[in-house]
Amino acid sequence: MRIAIFSAKSYERTLLDELNASHQHDLVYFDTLLELGTASLAAGFPAVSVFVNDPVDGKVLSRLAEGGTKLVATRSTGFNHIDLEAAKKHGIAVVRVTNYSPNSVAEFAVGLILVLNRKIHRAYNRTREGNFELDGLMGFDLVGRTVAVIGTGKIGTIFARIMAGFGCEVIGFDVHRSSEFERIGGRYVDAEDIEKADVVSLHCPLTPETYHIVSARTLSRMKRGALLINTSRGGLIDTEAAIEALKSGQLGGMAIDVYEQEAGLFFKDLSSTVIPDDVIQRLVSFPNVIVTGHQAFFTREALGTILETTLASVSDFAAGRPLANQITI
Ligand code: NAD
Repeated sequence: MRIAIFSAKSYERTLLDELNASHQHDLVYFDTLLELGTASLAAGFPAVSVFVNDPVDGKVLSRLAEGGTKLVATRSTGFNHIDLEAAKKHGIAVVRVTNYSPNSVAEFAVGLILVLNRKIHRAYNRTREGNFELDGLMGFDLVGRTVAVIGTGKIGTIFARIMAGFGCEVIGFDVHRSSEFERIGGRYVDAEDIEKADVVSLHCPLTPETYHIVSARTLSRMKRGALLINTSRGGLIDTEAAIEALKSGQLGGMAIDVYEQEAGLFFKDLSSTVIPDDVIQRLVSFPNVIVTGHQAFFTREALGTILETTLASVSDFAAGRPLANQITI
């Protein structure tokens, strides 16, 4: 099947070409995002593949339908960038990658806690400048601390297991309880118990219900000086409110792999340009903030599974087989 692959990075192309040997699809790569201005490139492609910042809204889907597209395959777990109602209206099936190494994201979230708490990012820069001072680098022992997990699904539960291994008390919030989370020692609590947490880590999807789940009010109810980690979706945090909480010291530090306005910034080298986004510029100016560019998923294992699952979904679609990873509403 002809597949138009948007937001295609060089590391994906090489691997996709290798994996495609057993699928024999006709792969055409586009550097650009799929958006209204580029959707005409997909004309004549029955399958289109996108990534997390391609805005696959109603207008884009209408354009895809006109061009004969029948399948959109997102190379991600999250699908908040796709208008599922519009896809259904246009008879376009949508598939995602439900299960690719959730360890990759969970392990990255743990890494962010360690770096942020022990100020390893600052020590790295200091020693390169010949500064071996310890002033300002003090952290806290994780053992015995309380870690809150918001969203105890696949990633949240693995993250909880690792933190339990550090000797932390792990508490969780979720609209659906997971027996696995409780089996590894996690304990479900009420929303007000967030005040007990020394570290809060977000692992729920971005939905209308979870949009700005970390608001000014949530931040004011957290333990003073707690750390906030977000490897899920930027829209979960009211970033302006987080900046105010960082300025007042209510929030002790924040590490984010995702950012609400990341589209247009992330996955690009903008080091030779003036970045017009004052919010991200303010954030990166804080010594107690770490920003990474949506890389939590980026391990060899996870990328291989993402790309193989995407090609396999298209093969299933082409053969008229059931789509195991279809998103239905
Ligand atoms: P999952 O579906 O297994 O788990 C999500 C959990 O969130 C579920 O248990 C669900 O019940 C819960 N949830 C839903 N609404 C909630 C609410 N209002 N309050 C509390 N919990 C709620 O998903 P997963 O595979 O664990 O992935 C979690 C998220 O991680 C994805 O939605 C995606 O946004 C993000 N993600 C980020 C990266 C990255 O590279 N940074 C990579 C993969 C996934």
